[in-house]
Amino acid sequence: MIVERTECAACKGTAFTSIARIDSREIVACQNCGFQFAKKFDTDTINKSYQNEYYPSPDAPRMDEWNLKNTEVWQSLCNDVTGAAPSVSSLLDIGAGTGGFLMEFQKKIPLAKLNAVESSSNAREFVSNKIPAVQFFTDLPSSEEFDVISLLQTMEHLEEPDLLCKKIFTALNTGGLFLLTVPNTAFLKHLWKKKENTLCYGNPTHLQFFGTRPLEKMLRDAGFKRITRIVKMEKGNAAFSRRFIQYLARFFGVSSELRYIAFKS
Ligand SMILES: [Zn+2]
Repeated sequence: MIVERTECAACKGTAFTSIARIDSREIVACQNCGFQFAKKFDTDTINKSYQNEYYPSPDAPRMDEWNLKNTEVWQSLCNDVTGAAPSVSSLLDIGAGTGGFLMEFQKKIPLAKLNAVESSSNAREFVSNKIPAVQFFTDLPSSEEFDVISLLQTMEHLEEPDLLCKKIFTALNTGGLFLLTVPNTAFLKHLWKKKENTLCYGNPTHLQFFGTRPLEKMLRDAGFKRITRIVKMEKGNAAFSRRFIQYLARFFGVSSELRYIAFKS
């Protein structure tokens, strides 16, 4: 099914400049706020890409490998949460995938009640086997339920990211924390690559392409306060030079992903 959007999710603008056509997606930039998104796309093509590229089976060894490969990233994200919110009794991870972040969070705060939203039944089965206590939701509750909600490399896949930000705000407890990561359109490597070859635009399931300003506006409009882009030097096992380059890229806003923490109050 062809879907065509008529307004910008960040500012509700209706005038756009076409910037790329990649597979079924017509990608535009909003003339008012600069937000980039797929104005037109074919949901059948996108669903096929999900089937082929994400969790085609409950293939445990492949999912374990993915979790192992990204352990340091998840530990770093856990530290961002506990550094900003020392007491967490409940967490909801939206788009939990193979559950790597949840597993690290459980190690960090064993008593926290863990919840997840994940559309792939194969991934849900995998996570349930690893952490039986995880409760799955199909949609967000319309009452205050969680101290922390995380949305890691997921918002770029959604048709209505602004709507989800509002639902997350509603489902957070007063003072609750929202942890968000998205691919960065200003990633330095994008400058010398064709758009279709970049991680950000090249993924056929990506519909939204975030830079700092439209993303911060979307968070503010949803009601979030104390919106902070995380710029830090990682500890980890990688060489110092590599971690320092990553720090500089984060500092100048040209890192591969944007990482934010925002609060409900
Ligand atoms: Zn706009």
